[in-house]
Amino acid sequence: MARYFLDPFGCAKNQVDAETMMALLGASGWSAAENPAEADLIIVNSCGFIESAKRESINAVLSWRKQFPKTKILLAGCLAQRYAAELAHSLPEADGLFGNTALGGIAAAASVLLSSGGEEAPAEVPAVLKAPGARPLLSLPGSAYVKISEGCNNRCSFCSIPLIRGPLHSRPPAEIIEECRCLLDRGIRELCIIGQDIASFGEDRPGEGGLPALLEGIAALPGSFWVRLLYLHPDKFPPALPEIMAGDRRFLPYFDIPLQHGSDSVLRAMNRRGTGENYLDLIRGIRAALPDAVIRSTFLVGFPGESEDDFARLLDFQERAALDWAGCFTYSREENTPAYAMGKRVSRSAAAERKRILEERQQIISEKQMERFVGRELEALVEEQFENEEQFEHSEESGGALPAAEGGLYLGRVYCQAPEVDGVSLILSKKNLTPGSLVTCRVTGRAGLDLELRTKG
Ligand code: SF4
Repeated sequence: MARYFLDPFGCAKNQVDAETMMALLGASGWSAAENPAEADLIIVNSCGFIESAKRESINAVLSWRKQFPKTKILLAGCLAQRYAAELAHSLPEADGLFGNTALGGIAAAASVLLSSGGEEAPAEVPAVLKAPGARPLLSLPGSAYVKISEGCNNRCSFCSIPLIRGPLHSRPPAEIIEECRCLLDRGIRELCIIGQDIASFGEDRPGEGGLPALLEGIAALPGSFWVRLLYLHPDKFPPALPEIMAGDRRFLPYFDIPLQHGSDSVLRAMNRRGTGENYLDLIRGIRAALPDAVIRSTFLVGFPGESEDDFARLLDFQERAALDWAGCFTYSREENTPAYAMGKRVSRSAAAERKRILEERQQIISEKQMERFVGRELEALVEEQFENEEQFEHSEESGGALPAAEGGLYLGRVYCQAPEVDGVSLILSKKNLTPGSLVTCRVTGRAGLDLELRTKG
């Protein structure tokens, strides 16, 4: 069997592509190598969104080439999609380039690459992923991303994604619900619904009811599980969402809404239709409908024309929004985006300083927000057993020493913690816990942005 090693980069959407390629390769007779030294082919599933991400993916190719001079290397993903013509000449270290618009061709591409070196390549099987829910998963136990759409129509002026992923293409709701059912049957407990902007879901499928209708379809699935919504554009936020969540506790009152800025003039230049006040109203409205709501966002600083006054407005917005979580990026000048030609550029150092200030303030806000969960009883998704329990400083309330034979210390998450981006939960348990399972716990303390939990009983 030919063996491949996949090196994943980028966002959750790119992770689903990586999982899809792994499934297609598996269906074509390839096996996944545990480590690259055993692989006939190394696939770097790249990110091409912003400068730092592009550099990281290219460095991965260069590093693998150095370590494994003879192994075939395929550069896949967004960077290959966006810069195929340039990279064909400028990156000889990659033996092949594979974009992300037709993942079904991955096995054929891999086989051609392998046979180009004279190796025996598995026969290509024209590939359509028949059961997306049956694909290998790269997430931690119990959780899976469900990508409901590809591409985006919002055209934010700083963003290169529409150039890479194209216009919005929503998947058929029935296919998505079938994928969810299949994942739940496999024991997945958390379905993270993703897309470039899931709030726009169904805009290209008029009459099908968009995201709310899809969620009602998922709500018809039996069992106890979580549904987490990620990447909701604030200007497209479906007003029905809080009510759907209030009606079914499986829909976590967790909202990831990239707001990007709080100054109206900067929002305008970003081609965002809302204002700072609109976004504060949206946040207030969600919290009024769902007092337990947890809101995550993303801010972009250093956008062309962002003045000290604009930044002050952003800081004021941050204070008033008091978001549970917020990430911050510095503007990356991306060719072929509308912002690329904009003047009044902000220096890298000024942008970095604004990022530092905003993140420092957000740390304090997030810690204060997490404090409200101490003493609560919450369901936790167990992800893994803690390697080295001594590392874990028990807060007084956690009751000191660990139990002997049974149980131990686990890492997990509760509803207010999305995978990979928010704090985590340290779960102290007297009984053995199964990674991927949901357990009821009491929040006994907070350590920075993380929560300390203790299982009941
Ligand atoms: S909504 Fe997101 S993916 Fe779409 S253009 Fe804006 S930033 Fe890019």
